[in-house]
Amino acid sequence: MIADVLVIGAGPAGSATALDLARRGVGVVLVDRARFPRPKPCGDYLNPRAAAALQRLGLHDTLRTCGGRVLRGLHIVTPKGRSAEVSFPGTPGMAIERAHLDALLVRAAAGAGAILLEEHVVGAVEREGSGWTVRAAWRGRGVTLRADILVGADGFHGRCAHWLGLAGRSAPTHVSPRFSIGGYFEGVDGAGDLEEMHLGDGVYCGVSPLDGAANITMALPAAALRAQGPDRAFWTGVRRLPGLAPRLERARVPGALRATGPLRPYRRMPAAPRAALVGDAAGFLEPLTGQGVSLALLSAARAAEAIAASLGRGTPDDLSAYARWRISLAAAHAGASAVRALALHGAARGILVPMLGGSRPLATALLGLIGGIDGEDSGKPGPRVPHTSHAGAPRC
Ligand SMILES: Cc1cc2nc3c(=O)[nH]c(=O)nc-3n(C[C@H](O)[C@H](O)[C@H](O)COP(=O)(O)OP(=O)(O)OC[C@H]3O[C@@H](n4cnc5c(N)ncnc54)[C@H](O)[C@@H]3O)c2cc1C
Repeated sequence: MIADVLVIGAGPAGSATALDLARRGVGVVLVDRARFPRPKPCGDYLNPRAAAALQRLGLHDTLRTCGGRVLRGLHIVTPKGRSAEVSFPGTPGMAIERAHLDALLVRAAAGAGAILLEEHVVGAVEREGSGWTVRAAWRGRGVTLRADILVGADGFHGRCAHWLGLAGRSAPTHVSPRFSIGGYFEGVDGAGDLEEMHLGDGVYCGVSPLDGAANITMALPAAALRAQGPDRAFWTGVRRLPGLAPRLERARVPGALRATGPLRPYRRMPAAPRAALVGDAAGFLEPLTGQGVSLALLSAARAAEAIAASLGRGTPDDLSAYARWRISLAAAHAGASAVRALALHGAARGILVPMLGGSRPLATALLGLIGGIDGEDSGKPGPRVPHTSHAGAPRC
C-alpha cells in the first residue's frame, strides 16, 4: 500500500493529524497496534486549550454526549490542607475517559477518509528512494507499507524517533523520574466540576470527575513503587494527601490500578526531510500540568498544515514550518518545569497556593504557563480545517 502520508500511532496526536490531512484531501494511512477503544493510562483531564482544539475539529459537542464532563476550573490542595480554586476565564476544560476520546478521534479520522489499520504493530521504518518503507506485523503476518511522508505519533515509549534518527538529539530535562499509578474509583465524596490537583512532597495526584466515577492518578517517586509495589505505594501516597484521603474511605475500585513510567520529560528535534514527530513522540511533559493532550492536538494541527502545504508546493522534504513552531514550544516546557518545581517544593507551595485563589493576575499567569489560555488557543474561533470529505461528526 502506498500513501501520501503514513501516521504511526492513533492516539490524539496521530488521529488528529490524520483527520486534518484527510479533510484537506491528502491520502493518509493511520496505523496503530491497538484496536480501539483501548485503555490509556491518563488523568483524563482536558485543559481549555485541548477543549478549544476539539471544538475546532467539530468534536466537542459529541464528546459531551459521550460522557465528557465540563470543568469550570482547577482546585489545588496542599498537604497542609491549604487550597485555591482557579476558574477558567474562557473556554472550560473537560474530563473524559481517554478510551472514549481516542476512539472518537480515530473514528472521525476514518470517517473523513483516512485508511485505518488497527492491530498493526510497526517494527521497522526505512528510508527507500524518496519516501519511506514501513514494516508491520498484523496477527503474526508481515505487512509492508510505503509513503511519501511519515508522521511518528507513537507516544512516549514509541520507537519512531529512533528509527528516524531524531531521538539522539533529545535533551533530557531532569533525572529523578516518577511513575504514575491510578484508576477509576466509584463513590468518591465531593468530586464536582473542578479538576483537582493534590500536591505533596515529590508526589502529586489528580482527580478528574467522570460520570459515576472519578479518575484518580498519582505520580510518585520510582523508589516508592519499587519498595512497596504499586498498590501499597498508591495508598501510602494517598495518606500523605489530607485533602483526598478521607474522601476515599468509602470509595470502591472496580478495576485494577495501572502503573506506568518513568515520567521523564524530554524534547526532540521534531522533523527531518519527509518526516515529522507529533505529540509525545516529539516531547513529553510530566502530567502534573495537564498539557499532554492539548500539545498533541496542537502539534497535529501544525504538522498537518505544514505537510499539506509542502505537498501542495511539491516540496515534501520541507517541513521546516512545523519544526520551527514545535521548537518554539521550549518556553512551554520551561514554564511547565518551573510550575512543577514550585508545586512540589513545600515552602514555595505553602506561600503560592493560598495566594492563587485571591489573585486573578497570579491565576492567569499560572493558567498561561500550563497551557490553559492564551492568544489563538483561548477558545476564540481559530482556523478551521476544510470539511470536504467529512461525513459528519461520529457518534459515541
Ligand atoms: C499517567 C499519565 C497521566 C496523564 N494525564 C494527562 C491528563 O490528565 N491530561 C493531559 O492532557 N495529558 C495527560 N497525560 C499526557 C497524555 O497522556 C499524552 O500527552 C498524550 O496521550 C499524547 O498523545 P499521543 O497521541 O502523542 O500519544 P499516545 O496517546 O500515547 O498514543 C500513541 C499511540 O501509538 C501507538 N503505538 C506505539 N507504538 C506503536 C507501534 N510500534 N506500532 C503501532 N502503534 C504504536 C499506541 O498504541 C498508541 O495508541 C498523562 C500521561 C500519563 C503517562
